[in-house]
Amino acid sequence: MSSDVQIAGRLNALRSALGAGRATNIGYPGATDLDYSEIIPFFGTLLNNVGDPWTDPAGSAHTKPFEREVLDWFADLFGADPDDRWGYLTTGGTEGNLYSLYLARTRFTNPLVYYSAAAHYSVPKCVHLLGMESVTVRAGQDGEMDYADFSDLINQYRHRPAIVVANCGTTMTEAADDVPRIRRILASAGVRSHVHVDAALTGVPLALLSEDQTPLRLSSTIDSIAVSGHKFLGAPIPCGVVLTRRSLQQRISQAIDYTATLDTTISGSRCGQVALLLWYVIRRYGLDGLRARAYAARELAGYAVRLLTDIGWRAWRHPHALTVVFDTPAPAVKAKWVLASSEGRSHLVCMPGVRREYIDAFVRDVAASSAAAPIRPVLFAGAPLPPVPRQAADDRIHSAGVA
Ligand SMILES: *Cc1c(COP(=O)(O)O)cnc(C)c1O
Repeated sequence: MSSDVQIAGRLNALRSALGAGRATNIGYPGATDLDYSEIIPFFGTLLNNVGDPWTDPAGSAHTKPFEREVLDWFADLFGADPDDRWGYLTTGGTEGNLYSLYLARTRFTNPLVYYSAAAHYSVPKCVHLLGMESVTVRAGQDGEMDYADFSDLINQYRHRPAIVVANCGTTMTEAADDVPRIRRILASAGVRSHVHVDAALTGVPLALLSEDQTPLRLSSTIDSIAVSGHKFLGAPIPCGVVLTRRSLQQRISQAIDYTATLDTTISGSRCGQVALLLWYVIRRYGLDGLRARAYAARELAGYAVRLLTDIGWRAWRHPHALTVVFDTPAPAVKAKWVLASSEGRSHLVCMPGVRREYIDAFVRDVAASSAAAPIRPVLFAGAPLPPVPRQAADDRIHSAGVA
């Protein structure tokens, strides 16, 4: 058993380490500007939203009425049909992807899963867990799906139903695939399909930003969508939302006497506090408050691109994106700043909570290090893609059980 002093010492050391790291952590996409302390007192007891959000368990130790309000808010945000919507609060984007692929699999015989080379690592993992067959669609250097390659593959396998995972915010460049275009390709090939959108990163800010037309319409173009709650919404616990249509979901629901609920979710017991956290942020800030955060974050990302470009450092972003992609800076800069880097490129994410001063300081460091030792990395969006040898399409299927 540890003494009071030892316990306090460990916790204090952790607290100061967390505080010290904040100003240089610009590479990973968790918002840090929101204050959730009104909800912290509810963490003293178990709140278990076991099973389906629309069946209340026995007893009062749950927050399902809050969960239902949160789900309705997200369903409205993504334009879901008021009479045909369903979803639940998950442990994060990964569970939302897993659930959606699981649901999609029940709709078809012998489906093939399509996801792009820029998809998040959770997608091939979920496909593998579910023992499904899949094929990787090429992606451009900017991270968006190669639609010509997608169309070729769809036509090659037109005899099989397609489960397509579209990205709305890829991990490295925050690219968003064009869902209506994907739908048109499927329709013209006459292929039955389920289109899932992995919108873990960008779903919420993108839905908030596009006033007139967003590709994220659950009613018409999308069959399911997954978002994370700890990214743009900055929940202090990893969590997420998955949404689909009730008419699709009903095929996998099972009544459980023991909990007095319907077992429709991947995890049985689910964290009730998460519903409170998300309910709190949407009620406290409202659509307008959250929209203002998204605009400010996008402004800051534009500012970061300008600043880097001004010092002669190659940088760009997708028009909607909070992610800024640039040539990987010198090792000293990488050691000081928490960036995500891959294949000669790095990114920073202007999530709310990243301040202008952090960007200024970062760009000063990049300028100083490049003056000392100029680096000319090779990879950059917009550069022509190296030719990819065309394989016979059959070679490209990842068979079930092979990661
Ligand atoms: C973060 C992320 C995920 C995984 O979400 P978790 O909440 O970490 O499970 C999936 N896809 C994309 C594009 C992401 O950015």
